[in-house]
Amino acid sequence: MHEYSLAIGLMESVLKTAEDNNAKIVNQISVRVGRIAHVNPVQLEFSLKSVSEGTLAENASYSFEYIDPEIKCICGYLGKPDEPEDDLDMLEYLVSLACPLCGKNVEVIGGTELVVESIDID
Ligand SMILES: [Zn+2]
Repeated sequence: MHEYSLAIGLMESVLKTAEDNNAKIVNQISVRVGRIAHVNPVQLEFSLKSVSEGTLAENASYSFEYIDPEIKCICGYLGKPDEPEDDLDMLEYLVSLACPLCGKNVEVIGGTELVVESIDID
């Protein structure tokens, strides 16, 4: 499962931050999830809980902040792409992203991130 390996990386950074700050417990973990990061938040939270077992973070609660995609075009357009159709596969959506102004291929500059925003420790 894709989310499981991502969760391992996120938890490593959480635990490293916690240890660097001499934490006894991690209460809360805030994660920024890009809407086109190709991550299922339910599976991600399940995976995070699973990989945190036996660690300082095993009883932590989670909050997820969803980041809208943002694109940049050589014509100068900077902003949101057109919304994906409901039945469109996310990978197809990503490769088909085009500028709403000129139709050229664009650079995705936001919405694909998956990072720990902050943690609350004691
Ligand atoms: Zn353009």
